[in-house]
Amino acid sequence: MAGIDLHAVCKRYGDHTPVIRDVDLSIAAGEFCVFVGPSGCGKSTLLRMIAGLEDISSGELHIGGQRMNDVAPAQRGVAMVFQSYALFPHMTVRENMSFGLELAGTPKAEIRRKVDEAARVLQLDHLLDRKPKALSGGQRQRVAIGRAIVRQPGVFLFDEPLSNLDAALRVQTRFEIAKLHREFGHASTVYVTHDQVEAMTLADRILLLNSGEAVQREGSVAQCGTP
Ligand code: ADP
Ligand code: ADP
Repeated sequence: MAGIDLHAVCKRYGDHTPVIRDVDLSIAAGEFCVFVGPSGCGKSTLLRMIAGLEDISSGELHIGGQRMNDVAPAQRGVAMVFQSYALFPHMTVRENMSFGLELAGTPKAEIRRKVDEAARVLQLDHLLDRKPKALSGGQRQRVAIGRAIVRQPGVFLFDEPLSNLDAALRVQTRFEIAKLHREFGHASTVYVTHDQVEAMTLADRILLLNSGEAVQREGSVAQCGTP
């Protein structure tokens, strides 16, 4: 089980004032934790540090009890879903979803089985041979989520995954994320958004990131999205 622990985590870019200051935080295994806060307060930076896409300036990051400060992103058991999908344009949906497992050396038959299963859950079965440019925004984001799920990560990171979708798709994809969390509920999830409704409907716990410091919200009760 992969809980996440941050101890006195700071981040500064170059010589600038720190973007993240002394964040202490424990996210339990299986917990769905949502970070809210204004644009520029450091939400993406925090996620990227957990993912290993950004160095930690000082402090300690542990995942599943292991120190992760210097561990390569692919070795952290973390999968991240971005606002901009970040799919490979020259690869089909199946190839996009298979790529991480191929890198990890997973046997071909197992990759096929896992991708088929994720495609079924996300209703992408009929789109597996298409390239991203032939998909709608909502379909692209489902592929990005599928690509993360097939790796069965201990930690799931979402960086404003619904921001580029129209209102109807935003609601639908939000329900899908909640459902996936229930079904694959062992994963610790950190989800960043500036949308209050998303936060309220998905979170076990809502944290406000206030100019670089995490503040626990009072009375943040999950309304749905938890079993
Ligand atoms: P949020 O996700 O809350 O909008 P970010 O983590 O993207 O916030 O950014 C926090 C602050 O760090 C912003 O002031 C941003 O300009 C700055 N920042 C983010 N990435 C970099 C970078 N690579 N180099 C310098 N400054 C950065
Ligand atoms: P968001 O607000 O959705 O988090 P941004 O537009 O702030 O995204 O940032 C997009 C990318 O640019 C991120 O990878 C971030 O690290 C980088 N970035 C943001 N601000 C700066 C900056 N001041 N200097 C360099 N890179 C930055």
